[in-house]
Amino acid sequence: MANVNRFSGKTRRAEVAGGGFAGLTAAIALRQNGWDVRLHEKSSELRAFGAGIYLWHNGLRVLEGLGALDDVLKGSHTPPAYETWMHNKSVSKETFNGLPWRIMTRSHLHDALVSRARALGVDIRVSSEAVAADPEGRMTLQTGEVVEADLIVGADGVGSKVRDSIGFKQDRWVSKDGLIRLIVPRMKKQLGHGEWDNTIDMWNFWPRVQRILYSPCNENELYLGLMAPAADPRGSSVPIDLEVWVEMFPFLEPCLIEAAKLKTARYDKYETTKLDSWTRGKVALVGDAAHAMCPALAQGAGCAMVNAFSLSQDLEVGSSVEDALVGWEKRIRPITDRCQALSGDYAANRSLSKGNMFTPAALEAARFDPLRRVYSWPQ
Ligand SMILES: Cc1cc2nc3c(=O)[nH]c(=O)nc-3n(C[C@H](O)[C@H](O)[C@H](O)COP(=O)(O)OP(=O)(O)OC[C@H]3O[C@@H](n4cnc5c(N)ncnc54)[C@H](O)[C@@H]3O)c2cc1C
Repeated sequence: MANVNRFSGKTRRAEVAGGGFAGLTAAIALRQNGWDVRLHEKSSELRAFGAGIYLWHNGLRVLEGLGALDDVLKGSHTPPAYETWMHNKSVSKETFNGLPWRIMTRSHLHDALVSRARALGVDIRVSSEAVAADPEGRMTLQTGEVVEADLIVGADGVGSKVRDSIGFKQDRWVSKDGLIRLIVPRMKKQLGHGEWDNTIDMWNFWPRVQRILYSPCNENELYLGLMAPAADPRGSSVPIDLEVWVEMFPFLEPCLIEAAKLKTARYDKYETTKLDSWTRGKVALVGDAAHAMCPALAQGAGCAMVNAFSLSQDLEVGSSVEDALVGWEKRIRPITDRCQALSGDYAANRSLSKGNMFTPAALEAARFDPLRRVYSWPQ
């Protein structure tokens, strides 16, 4: 059913900048609620950057609300446990009290969202870059074209031009550690005996700080996150320096040999963005544009999806777009703020290395159910 503007009598329109997880979620959720939605992606194709991704109960519930969950569950994996190793010895195995979680390749998640957006009739424009927006509901494209809408969604990532053109007050900083993210073949047989269906978070502090987050995505694909301080030239070099990684993690040699063949690998540090506000007039910022966070709790995309989905809910309450956006930020932001703070703290102190660190506070965002708007699942 069309979603009509009370004053003009026309179907409400949204222009969304950015075709990542946040922008696609916002576009689908608004479209499901009867909005006309156009999504602008600056790249020439819709494609997910990165390797694998963890989604928790909160993000999985969003997918259910978007009608994309079944597609995502096929071809993704829930490990029996999240295991932590220190110097190659197991220190903990966590199962989160049965709280749902899932690992998948980024392209798998992205493809499911793109196909849902297309099926619902979201108007997707590629090679279309937003360069500015204003609180009155106008967005300027790189071509010079100015588009107008009832709502502008800035989902254009950590370097958001929509955000920066409006001038939100912001703090931004970058971590000292970083990660090389890769997808390699599973190679379970070559790895020999072991619980290789688990996530295994393998930490080493000596003789160098190096960590591998071993994350099976499905029967065939394995997501490896190779973490090293930015100050370590060998640990952070790409393509990966096979010798330093095999020396520390010899049992993963078959997978590391495959990883070393990937010439397009990238070493990324973690960026954090904290804004005074996520909204200005008819403009809402979602995802990394609003709250990029360290990935320790693997919640950047999960929170982005919850917030983008919740936006469409709060725009249904009958007040003006401007008031609805203020109410939305007030309702939903505290969960993200707490998650961002704890994730940053965990990353700075490398806390996950201790094991058993998925405490009730660490799982707060994951326990939120955006469809019922309550926390579910026992602590
Ligand atoms: C190492 C690492 C591991 C992570 N692991 C996890 C995890 O396991 N689970 C999790 O939930 N989160 C994780 N995250 C966080 C997650 O990746 C991000 O929070 C999430 O991808 C943000 O999505 P987004 O749509 O806001 O931004 P992006 O993914 O950056 O998407 C922005 C999109 O907008 C486009 N764009 C940019 N500028 C413009 C413009 N001006 N106009 C039009 N289009 C534009 C870009 O091309 C891109 O397609 C991780 C992050 C890092 C760094």
